[in-house]
Amino acid sequence: MAINLEFDRDHIWHPYTSMLNPLPVYPVSRAEGCELILENGQRLIDGTSSWWAAAHGYNHPVLNAAVTDQLQQMAHVMFGGITHQPAVSLCQQLVEITPAALTKVFLADSGSVAVEVAIKMALQYWLASATPAKTKLISLRKGYHGDTFAAMAVCDPVDGMHDMFSGILNQHYFLPPPQSTFDAAFNPADMQPLAELLAEQHNQIAAFILEPIVQGYGGMRFYHPEYLRQARALCDQFNVLLIADEIATGFGRTGKLFACEHAGITPDIMCLGKALSGGYITLAATLCTDEVARGISQSAAGGLMHGPTFMANPLACAVANASVQLILENNWPAQVTAIEQQLLRELAPCKSLPAVKDVRVLGAIGVLEMRQKVNVAKLQQQFVDLGVWIRPFNNLIYIMPPFIINLAQLSKLTAAMVKVANA
Ligand code: PMP
Repeated sequence: MAINLEFDRDHIWHPYTSMLNPLPVYPVSRAEGCELILENGQRLIDGTSSWWAAAHGYNHPVLNAAVTDQLQQMAHVMFGGITHQPAVSLCQQLVEITPAALTKVFLADSGSVAVEVAIKMALQYWLASATPAKTKLISLRKGYHGDTFAAMAVCDPVDGMHDMFSGILNQHYFLPPPQSTFDAAFNPADMQPLAELLAEQHNQIAAFILEPIVQGYGGMRFYHPEYLRQARALCDQFNVLLIADEIATGFGRTGKLFACEHAGITPDIMCLGKALSGGYITLAATLCTDEVARGISQSAAGGLMHGPTFMANPLACAVANASVQLILENNWPAQVTAIEQQLLRELAPCKSLPAVKDVRVLGAIGVLEMRQKVNVAKLQQQFVDLGVWIRPFNNLIYIMPPFIINLAQLSKLTAAMVKVANA
């Protein structure tokens, strides 16, 4: 049966778009490997990994088997008073591969909820301490942490998607984002705003939340690891927790398994999502240290006050187990390095295009920053006509393809980017 696009247009919200004048949608009937297959049979090479998630591509036999095997046992069971092997195995893997001090895992149902949980952990930790007045957060301008309300309150307050709610959201402190780029010299002046704010206000600050190394939806900015190192030291000095939102950067995407490793730091709390479950079923995780867990558990409540209905969904945990295992078995550093080298080579010609302001590559992420905001609907159609799936936003044309992409497929993506940027 044909997908009813008229019904879709009249009745179904799509992300970040209007119900009266929505952006066009393309009907996809299948996806396999690195290809999305449209209803009309056209095959598109995927440059998005469905928003950073499908690291192993689509319809992967190992991941499919993980879901169907688990389905024979149970699709879901509540997590209050119950545990199960998919959750235990997954949390064991996460404790093993994340920085050593992160030992406690909360399984959440989406990235935004993982951020809510991280914020709640930080607040509850201080509420139970001798300094309960620490209730504010620090975030970076150009930061993005999700669409739920506590997460929105730490997104960029001006440029973010949530500026219209700024009068309603909890008020936190925002700092200028680091200006030192990933591989340029580090400018120590980048630390000054954080050092000053902490010196003045640390008594009311619970945590500093940031996206390590890559600020994603706030502009696909790649900043210097030294910023993270010094931020960690300042947070220690002033008794402030550090929350690393690795939802987009986790699982090898930036060339390290976790972006914090570029700086060799351990956050107090870390959020994971997106590629965690290989793009199959929504799942996220918030990890914390023994010290944070101990503090929270000593609060009047006696535990962390969060417990979603679909917490630790067994199907999602089973596929996440298989996906994390595949990341490790597939030699992700080799996959990501090959993608990085090819992106550097094939996007370099864009540097001389008049419409392009900057070309950036880190790990398996390739970005063209355009001088002007792009027309999303128009570019989307141009990309589809060229046989690729790339979804630009603001002034950014960027890709983060599945790690299994081959040379020819990636060349098709980069050629389309060069062509559209030159149009
Ligand atoms: N944090 C970051 C850094 C993200 O990129 C995203 C996803 N856009 C989120 C949080 C929110 O995740 P989700 O969309 O799964 O709620």
